[in-house]
Amino acid sequence: MRLEDKVALVTGGGRGIGKGIAECLAREGAAVVVADIDGASAESTAQALRKAGGRAVGVEADVTRADQVDAMVRTATQELGGLDIAVNNAGVVGAKELEDLSESEWDRVMTINVKGVFLCCKAQAPLMAAKGGGTIVNLASVAGKIGFPGLSHYCASKFAVVGFTNSLAKEFARKGVTINAICPGLVGTDMWMGAEGLASVWRNEGESVEQAWERFVETLLPQGVPQTPEDIGEMVVFLATAPHVVGQSINVDGGYATH
Ligand code: NAD
Repeated sequence: MRLEDKVALVTGGGRGIGKGIAECLAREGAAVVVADIDGASAESTAQALRKAGGRAVGVEADVTRADQVDAMVRTATQELGGLDIAVNNAGVVGAKELEDLSESEWDRVMTINVKGVFLCCKAQAPLMAAKGGGTIVNLASVAGKIGFPGLSHYCASKFAVVGFTNSLAKEFARKGVTINAICPGLVGTDMWMGAEGLASVWRNEGESVEQAWERFVETLLPQGVPQTPEDIGEMVVFLATAPHVVGQSINVDGGYATH
């Protein structure tokens, strides 16, 4: 096991990619704080990790609230004894073309996806530096590398995560903290498959959600297969064990983006 004696924290860990990341970290021996705005789902992921023999704590935390972010980080240090790996995964999407994109929808996506990552890093990076080091992984997206019509605010938020991550990585490069981002391609979580997910919103007439999903996977991804939460979790484990990978935004997208 590659992460024995390490303490990890995953935001948005109640379901989807965050849950997959928490499982991969626990499988490698890390104790995990699972945080989510939906406290019940955070606890349910933590419970599953404990059932499988791991150490895990579920905590309700909204990443847009500094007080809750600080409390979430304190849970790691006080209940699990430290913070070595932080994965800032919580995020939301919305599909709107400019004419229908309201100021409040712009603010919702930017606040959760960008301010949330900022608040988390602010609570995590100095603490890690003071304790001798650590790893932070922020979740960006292929939409942080390529623009998509109908997703301008989401793309703006993920391009921001890429730039923020690279800048912060340079600030902390000599303080023992490695900071990187992961850019997933298409993962069949609620973000795509849920009632308000992208496959539902972008369905053609007569097409089911599953058929729309398959169409996007087939036409957009060179490999023709989607990525899984475990694919993203494996990249987190790699970054947590790669001391000289710094400031990168690594695509796990089956060959979609070129940079
Ligand atoms: P998801 O909607 O399935 O899960 C998101 C999780 O974040 C949920 O558990 C939700 O409760 C939580 N969350 C939402 N707002 C929160 C807040 N304010 N505070 C704390 N938790 C909050 O989405 P997912 O597909 O698992 O996405 C995870 C991350 O990966 C997101 O940052 C997303 O943008 C990114 N991503 C996803 C895909 C994809 O294809 N699914 C592709 C690229 C990037």
